[in-house]
Amino acid sequence: MNLNLKAAAQNTYDAIVIGTGISGGWAMKELTQKGLKVLALERGRMVEHVTDYPTTMLKPWEIAHRGEMPPEDKTANPVVNKCYAYNENTQHFFVKDQEHPYIQDKPFDWIRGYQVGGKSLLWARWTQRWGEHDFEANAREGIGTDWPIRYKELAPWYSYVEKFAGISGNRDGLPQVPDGEFLPPMAMNCLEKHVKSQLDAKYQGRHLIISRTANLSEAGPQQQAVGRGSCQYRNLCARGCPFGAAFSTNAATLPAARATGRLTLRPDSVVHSIIYNEQKKRATGVRVVDAKTKEMTEYFAKIIFVNASTVNTNLVLQNSTSSRFPNGIGNDSGVLGRYVMAHNYRVSGSGSYEGFEDQYYFGRRPTGIYIPRYRNFGTDKQTAFLRGYSHSGGAGRASWGRGNGMPGFGAELKNSLIKPGIWSFSINAMGEMLPYEDNRIWLDDTQKDQWGMPLVHIDVAWKENEDAMSRDAVVQIQEMLEAVGLKNVSARDNHQNPGLDIHEMGGCRMGRDPKTSMLNGFNQMHAVKNVFVTDGASMASTACQNPSITYMALTARAADYAVKELKKGNL
Ligand SMILES: Cc1cc2nc3c(=O)[nH]c(=O)nc-3n(C[C@H](O)[C@H](O)[C@H](O)COP(=O)(O)OP(=O)(O)OC[C@H]3O[C@@H](n4cnc5c(N)ncnc54)[C@H](O)[C@@H]3O)c2cc1C
Repeated sequence: MNLNLKAAAQNTYDAIVIGTGISGGWAMKELTQKGLKVLALERGRMVEHVTDYPTTMLKPWEIAHRGEMPPEDKTANPVVNKCYAYNENTQHFFVKDQEHPYIQDKPFDWIRGYQVGGKSLLWARWTQRWGEHDFEANAREGIGTDWPIRYKELAPWYSYVEKFAGISGNRDGLPQVPDGEFLPPMAMNCLEKHVKSQLDAKYQGRHLIISRTANLSEAGPQQQAVGRGSCQYRNLCARGCPFGAAFSTNAATLPAARATGRLTLRPDSVVHSIIYNEQKKRATGVRVVDAKTKEMTEYFAKIIFVNASTVNTNLVLQNSTSSRFPNGIGNDSGVLGRYVMAHNYRVSGSGSYEGFEDQYYFGRRPTGIYIPRYRNFGTDKQTAFLRGYSHSGGAGRASWGRGNGMPGFGAELKNSLIKPGIWSFSINAMGEMLPYEDNRIWLDDTQKDQWGMPLVHIDVAWKENEDAMSRDAVVQIQEMLEAVGLKNVSARDNHQNPGLDIHEMGGCRMGRDPKTSMLNGFNQMHAVKNVFVTDGASMASTACQNPSITYMALTARAADYAVKELKKGNL
């Protein structure tokens, strides 16, 4: 590795943001808009909005294998091939297993997107807020560490990010998923409405709603200002949305940051570590390995935001050693890398419906229905497990036993495929995972990747609470789908590995006590005041909602605080 020792004044900024995915995008937008000169460092390549979405307008017949990955790719990349969204149309936004190895001490399917935009180009955009009870859960049950904030402190920041991101949704008045600043909701189809009314009639506290989703059902002035337009109902969002209707860094936060004239974006820049200065008791900058030349350069700033996504944030922090912090920057407590969590997405179920044959629906809606958590909420008290799960799903006429699953051949089979199939409805369970000290991420002492970064060990497993919750979800899904009038119902636990949920969290948790946590209530390191970690690594529990809207709100709130502290001379 070559060292460039000339790195100096021209490499100095007000703030450095590590990573340009969902949370890093928000950090660079907020910090530049508040007047700071920001350097955003991204280990992957540049992806320009629209022009770097090569498959976005392709028709099915223009794609070599109609989207299916060839067998050689499946053999070479078994982990990423498990991801439902990985296919011929989206593969260029995913990390292939072989290119970026990691060590699975226990099976963990690590799904990654290394490029400007990170996984914001791939995500499904489900954006339910956390509720009051989620921030209280650890304290109430004596699990993990108490969150240093409560819902009321984050609520205005949820509103703030929702207004800019553009979240379509209905105001349902449910405390599990508080209402936000919504664009018009997407429509439910007739079977979804039927299931909703049946759930209302047959259960207390089980509500079916349309998912809150970061797709512009109607682009408003804030979104139009950065060039975004309304959803075209193609449901091809993970190819990159050329209309900018699907929220991504590339379509939304990056143009907003660029418009300030204060952003320097440096792709192909692998952040190796954070530099700590013992005299100043502050981080002074970062060491960056150029992804192409492997040359190392140092960049300097007053504030550092770490947004490399949970596992890589843990890697960068643990790789940032000094005599003051031999076990990773800010790690006085010893909790860095511990209490890593995922979401339990093991259980799903489906059934078919006889009826509504004369009804159909418009377009390809890029979202689904959501049933917020009901277990261990309100009067539904369970003793077999702690916390709960929500459901995502939907109804349609396209998939149930269609195509490959149908008997027949020739013209008769093809003609029958032109007509809609029977109605079917499916849901999965999205369960909370508890924080466990021995579920952890750590660095290998000797093995490094080609950029000189230590390989990460991921040692994370489900435990009894997740197993008990899964058993319960199988029973509840089976019973519920039968109770609402579906036929051929089946529910199952596929025992999938942690990681495939793509909601990895923890390792650098927020907390009230510096002895047991890394970050305070503003995502600021207790021990190094000018370092902020605002991605999933900062989470002290997972709740059962999709997490990214919470990362956005935490990031905007932390950026606001950081700039105020900087102006007061505290950083
Ligand atoms: C198919 C799919 C569906 C999903 N659906 C949902 C959903 O519906 N709702 C939801 O809330 N979430 C969803 N997610 C998860 C969501 O994408 C993540 O929670 C979110 O992207 C995390 O944001 P982030 O900023 O932490 O990380 P990312 O978006 O992953 O960005 C991290 C960035 O950091 C860069 N980086 C990493 N290491 C370094 C380094 N050393 N130096 C410089 N740069 C570095 C990476 O290249 C990347 O660009 C989904 C994800 C996928 C893949």
